[in-house]
Amino acid sequence: MVIGKLRNAQLVINQEALYENIRHAKEYAEPGTDVFVVLKANGYGHGAIQVARVAEKAGANGFCVALLDEALELRDAGFTQPILVLGITDPTDTPIARDNQISLTVGSSEWLEQADQILSASKTALKLNVHLALDTGMGRIGFQKPDELKSALAYLNQQADIFGFEGIFTHFATADSKDESYFKYQYQNFRDFMAVIDHRPKYVHVANSATSLWHKKCEGNLIRLGITTYGLNPSGNEITKLPYQLKPAMTFQSTLIYVKLVQAGKSIGYGATYQTTDNEWIGTVPVGYADGVPRKMQGFSVLVDGHFCPIVGRVCMDQFMIKLPKKYPYGTQVTIIGTSGAEKITTEDMANYLGTINYEVVCGFSSRLNRKYV
Ligand SMILES: *Cc1c(COP(=O)(O)O)cnc(C)c1O
Repeated sequence: MVIGKLRNAQLVINQEALYENIRHAKEYAEPGTDVFVVLKANGYGHGAIQVARVAEKAGANGFCVALLDEALELRDAGFTQPILVLGITDPTDTPIARDNQISLTVGSSEWLEQADQILSASKTALKLNVHLALDTGMGRIGFQKPDELKSALAYLNQQADIFGFEGIFTHFATADSKDESYFKYQYQNFRDFMAVIDHRPKYVHVANSATSLWHKKCEGNLIRLGITTYGLNPSGNEITKLPYQLKPAMTFQSTLIYVKLVQAGKSIGYGATYQTTDNEWIGTVPVGYADGVPRKMQGFSVLVDGHFCPIVGRVCMDQFMIKLPKKYPYGTQVTIIGTSGAEKITTEDMANYLGTINYEVVCGFSSRLNRKYV
């Protein structure tokens, strides 16, 4: 994959913001709580390796990822901290996880049996460390009932030279919601599961970012810190009261690469969906939907010299056009996310315009965009 290092567009990642967000999470957590920074999807688009370096300095105790490949990327880069893969890994690949001391998520006894066969066939002195996922109401992966958990625990106990029982966890579907009723229902289910456990593993964890902010008293000794690492509010616009300030780490900057005066009645872009109504200064920005600025962004305003400038015409694959208040020279900065003069555009603004959440916006910025670390 080519990274556009010689183009006039980049994501600027503020490492101090990442550092402070992690420090604040650690300081706010209940005493004795570990923080694993979630680095899936290339660190929510911020760059997994660079975020991991900052997280290490900020005192993160480990990392979570979604895929075994993402865990291996971290091991290959030399990180020796605990890493947990949150998704389900194919049993065939379990020896790779074991040999690299990467912990895996288990959601069923069938998986355990299949993994056992494969691991036993290539037995080593190392064990595969596992975290048992409990489905308390997320409906995604995990043991469904306490008695299923019980038989899995018995199995682990029997195969203690193959598996290390390192953790048990659940994931809340509505920790970011003002209405707490479903959260309470899930929490009760979690307690019902925990009642069948006779010895607690090293890690018991229930907290994503939202849980760590608004339900921190929940049982558990590990936070899986995702979106707040990056300074974004897990609740979007719903819960805006935060126990500490979040600092967004990412801004998105480009520049004008072409500026022209267009006569009234001319069309701009594919489909000729925009007509100038007057003589208009039109600027071209070298960013498009292949970079993660979707076509639906038509009509959204970006910032030039502290002025909001609407995207006119359709967003192309690699470029879009904006209406400028006056002539600006080639190379003038264009801010897609960030501040310009007295004005600001947040990831949240972009998410709201697209009818989605900040998570999807930052994950959507493609690898073609260079990430610059400051
Ligand atoms: C992605 C993920 C997280 C992190 O969630 P945030 O809302 O970004 O903090 C935590 N736990 C699980 C299981 C996840 O899949």
